[in-house]
Amino acid sequence: MGIRYTGPYAQQVDDHEGHAARKLADGTVSAGWTEETSSLQGFVASCSCGWRGDGEHPATEAGREGAEGQWSTEHLGPLIEAARATWDSWPEELVGLARYVRDRVQAQDAAEALRVLDQMVADVDYRRRTVTLLAAQQEPPA
Ligand SMILES: [Zn+2]
Repeated sequence: MGIRYTGPYAQQVDDHEGHAARKLADGTVSAGWTEETSSLQGFVASCSCGWRGDGEHPATEAGREGAEGQWSTEHLGPLIEAARATWDSWPEELVGLARYVRDRVQAQDAAEALRVLDQMVADVDYRRRTVTLLAAQQEPPA
């Protein structure tokens, strides 16, 4: 029932599902859906990871959308930004790992070299998926 981001960095922000949590008259905030609406006080932006937005939105449809918008702007946005920022240090990390693999091979520690190579392959594969999605977004409209 929550909102999930499905863009290019979806894999990195996989465990975040946004909700307009319901704040009840007694002050409790319920992330789950209940039929009971009589004591609904308002909506609070919240996430499946435990994040909660500051403030409260009115107990209306617009308020619900406001809470979801707050989740997207204040929580999801920075997560996507952080995922995007991992590109900055990526080339140096990859070079560092490649040097380590070379050293392990030269030291005849093939098992360790293989373990790190597998990590590198998984990382490159994962970034390839992200870039594939970015390429699809950047295609000119047909
Ligand atoms: Zn979250």
